[in-house]
Amino acid sequence: MKLAVVGAHCGDAEIQAGAIAHKYAKAGHEVTFVHLTAGEKGNPPNISVDDYREQKIKESEKVAEILGVKTITLDYKDAELTCNDEIVMRVATLMREIKPNVVITHWKNSIHPDHELCYEIVQAAQLKAGLPGFDLNGLPPHYYGIYHSENWEDMDGYDPDVYIDVSDEFDTYLEALSNYWFIMNSSSFRYYDYYKALGTVRGCLNRCKYAQTLKFTTGGNVRKGGIIPGYEL
Ligand SMILES: [Zn+2]
Repeated sequence: MKLAVVGAHCGDAEIQAGAIAHKYAKAGHEVTFVHLTAGEKGNPPNISVDDYREQKIKESEKVAEILGVKTITLDYKDAELTCNDEIVMRVATLMREIKPNVVITHWKNSIHPDHELCYEIVQAAQLKAGLPGFDLNGLPPHYYGIYHSENWEDMDGYDPDVYIDVSDEFDTYLEALSNYWFIMNSSSFRYYDYYKALGTVRGCLNRCKYAQTLKFTTGGNVRKGGIIPGYEL
């Protein structure tokens, strides 16, 4: 099994599906986080955008190490994403290289334009990666299933379809998250408190200590899908 989690900014993949990713990694599956941008424009007052980009990439590497996953940060600019052929082809090529069975990404409705664009880019890349008619560096076509996960900025219409018990992974998830400056220090949102509480609330509803959730993708004939592979892990 191979799992990829694609987020708009360093930190999104981790907060949305870090505990799930760790669960898959612990079970011996290959997990890759793909960040379309570093999310560098939320820089602290005393750090430049360029320096914060470097800091966030280093933080993402530390988080990935703790969770036992790979991490890739693309060089697109925070808050300047567009959904165009270039980025769709680049993500499609990356998906042919990673060959994930499952891709987890943002839900389609968000207060952050980059998050909505990430959703669109991953959806469009799925088709390009899967169709043999597209030549992407000579790589063989690869098709993957898409799920969405829970991000405080993307909650409009997000009703979970799948609850995953991450009781045994949650402490490591929180430890990993604490390596991001913004998660511990943001003055605009209490990230750490929110995601600790969210895992607790989802765990209550799932009758376990901690849980993270997924939502099936929409459109076509996939409005309702099967359970995520390895769900019983
Ligand atoms: Zn984000």
